[in-house]
Amino acid sequence: MDFAISDKMQTVIGMIDEFVERELMPLEPLLLQGHFEELEPELERRRRMVKQMELWAPNHPAAYGGMGLDLVEHALVSEALGRSPLGHYVFGCQAPDAGNAEILHLHGTTAQKRKYLQPLVDGRIRSCFSMTEVEMPGSNPTMLATTAVKEGADYIIDGQKWYTTSSDGAEFAIVMAVTNPEAPPYLRASMIIVPTDAPGFNQARIIPVMGEAGRGYFSHGEILYQSCRVPQANLLGSEGHGFIIAQERLGPGRIHHCMRWIGICNRAFDLMCRRAAAREIAPGRVLATKQIVQAWIAESAAAIQAARLAVLHAAWKMEQAGHKAARTEISLIKFQVANTMMAVIDRALQVHGGLGMTDDTILAFFYRHERAARIYDGADEVHKISVAKQILKHYQ
Ligand SMILES: Cc1cc2nc3c(=O)[nH]c(=O)nc-3n(C[C@H](O)[C@H](O)[C@H](O)COP(=O)(O)OP(=O)(O)OC[C@H]3O[C@@H](n4cnc5c(N)ncnc54)[C@H](O)[C@@H]3O)c2cc1C
Repeated sequence: MDFAISDKMQTVIGMIDEFVERELMPLEPLLLQGHFEELEPELERRRRMVKQMELWAPNHPAAYGGMGLDLVEHALVSEALGRSPLGHYVFGCQAPDAGNAEILHLHGTTAQKRKYLQPLVDGRIRSCFSMTEVEMPGSNPTMLATTAVKEGADYIIDGQKWYTTSSDGAEFAIVMAVTNPEAPPYLRASMIIVPTDAPGFNQARIIPVMGEAGRGYFSHGEILYQSCRVPQANLLGSEGHGFIIAQERLGPGRIHHCMRWIGICNRAFDLMCRRAAAREIAPGRVLATKQIVQAWIAESAAAIQAARLAVLHAAWKMEQAGHKAARTEISLIKFQVANTMMAVIDRALQVHGGLGMTDDTILAFFYRHERAARIYDGADEVHKISVAKQILKHYQ
């Protein structure tokens, strides 16, 4: 296993680090204060700069206008971008669009790629992924109530989804719906492309999450599919293969998320150290002289380093041996990194005292926003069970 970073990637990461600090961090107060109308044109301007620097869409194939980086390379980019909540969006590799583009790339027809994939990779449109339902446990995705029934040349979709992230202003959703109710549980559902202006696609509300009303890209929609009609040509991949495709989407997606979280750890850690070194708590004595703060710093450094290497190892294994072979590693980093991140953010916030609770630093945003990391893409408990089962197989 070789984690050496090539000269090309060193240069790319250096450019991204500088851009994030110079161009994105100064925009964060607009996000924190909810000034989306001022933020959006600024983000568009930064996106044009990124395209000019030829750093746009690092994870997408060069044939579509991306950088064509491999998984480990993109993991390093994701870490650098993760230091700001605006990073991935401005570089054209944000969730959920990145995952949707990946599915379209692997399973889309030529017509679907032309209509949806290319504008998505160009950053001209946004998308969302609509799987989780209000009344059903997202942790058991075989329990879907949303149906897609054939009528003439169309599907008629009925169901109630929520946490359809970034639905506000999206051009289309990729919807998981049951098309084959009589099939075995993992072959019942399909993925279907639903334009958000299709008849029967109704965004009932934007769900307020952790005190944030949400808007545009930073939103989570509750969507009612009410006799929503789309052509059968909008089926993605084969009928009944929704879960198989979802697994393909989630593998690389978890690597991207985990490295983004390492980026957040790095930012929080940096803020913690700066504050500890500067905050006088007695004449001539700064916080950094206290052993308990020193312990937090040392423990955080060790945990971040361990988590970072575990993610890079999982990415490397996935690249070498495929998604299935790296299943345990991917589940392991999903809960390991999410919990490391929460612990580091929490310590950094504590070191900032009252200031940490305000929106004068990015820490409170991270604290609210990233708590969800322990829930989405598989809750901690589900991944722990999966890891334990894989390990225990060797003891039977
Ligand atoms: C910020 C955010 C963004 C999201 N974005 C999207 C999106 O874009 N598209 C989308 O479709 N969904 C999205 N989701 C939904 C997410 O995928 C689900 O919330 C997740 O799968 C959990 O499902 P649930 O909420 O129904 O919880 P449930 O399945 O009801 O589980 C509740 C809790 O029960 C426990 N639990 C569950 N199963 C087990 C088990 N087998 N053993 C032990 N304990 C268990 C876990 O602690 C879990 O947190 C998002 C969620 C959040 C919070």
